[in-house]
Amino acid sequence: MTGPENLDDASRRLARTQRLLIASDFDGTLSPLVERPAEARIVADAVAGITALAASPGTTVVILSGRDLVSLKAVCPAIPGVTLIGSYGAEWPGVIAPLAESDCQTLDALAAALDGIVSVLPGAFVERKTVSAAINVRLSDPDPAAIAIDLAHKAAASFTGLTRHLGRGVVEWSVRPTRKADVLATLRREHNPTLTVALGDDEPDLEAFDRLDEADVRIFVSPSARKGTLAVNTPAEAGRWLASLARLRSEFVGPTGAGCGQTRPATSTIQSSPSSAGSVTSAGA
Ligand SMILES: [Mg+2]
Repeated sequence: MTGPENLDDASRRLARTQRLLIASDFDGTLSPLVERPAEARIVADAVAGITALAASPGTTVVILSGRDLVSLKAVCPAIPGVTLIGSYGAEWPGVIAPLAESDCQTLDALAAALDGIVSVLPGAFVERKTVSAAINVRLSDPDPAAIAIDLAHKAAASFTGLTRHLGRGVVEWSVRPTRKADVLATLRREHNPTLTVALGDDEPDLEAFDRLDEADVRIFVSPSARKGTLAVNTPAEAGRWLASLARLRSEFVGPTGAGCGQTRPATSTIQSSPSSAGSVTSAGA
């Protein structure tokens, strides 16, 4: 298998496959990047496409985000059959182990250090999430932003047990070790897809792409090309592609169950602990 030559070729393979797993990032992939995280909105075509795909037989749809679940649910509509996973896999709906007191103290101290750094940098801000703290300098001038990021790395280095996630203008440190790549690998073991398509726009997504098989499809939502990926320029284009994939898949598998023999588990849980990279187990039929 040499991989699909273009999006149309990939769409046809994905539409025909028996068990399809679709795993997508949210920010910058299904929603345009915005100045403030709370202002993000999923593009309409993505909602339509994901809704139809999730209703298709033999199709599993997961949105895997670096946002914590509360934040993700605030900007992403609840779509039947679509599982939202937050905090790079540390948060599964209804499953988040309470943080140890020491972890809370670590995050509070790290956030305070980051607050000190951004206090002199216009446009920068700190996000204290459920299991992490992040510095966001997307709105700041590049040179002072680079200095701030360097200072943030040094501040975080004084804490132990943190997992770092690099994004565009954002660096985040989590007290949970989960990574998108591990979660995607676990999802593939869980659902045993005949093909997987992953969509993303950032380093954690590219890391997850590496866990796919050669025949699987990697959609990089970016104007810049990456070897081994199929590129779409914007979330709007990604949304249109998902909608077109939904139409194509309905031609092959139908909207209500004809054509594909295996349905997905209705719910899953992810076991999240400081020592676990996230093992997914089926929780119901
Ligand atoms: Mg993203």
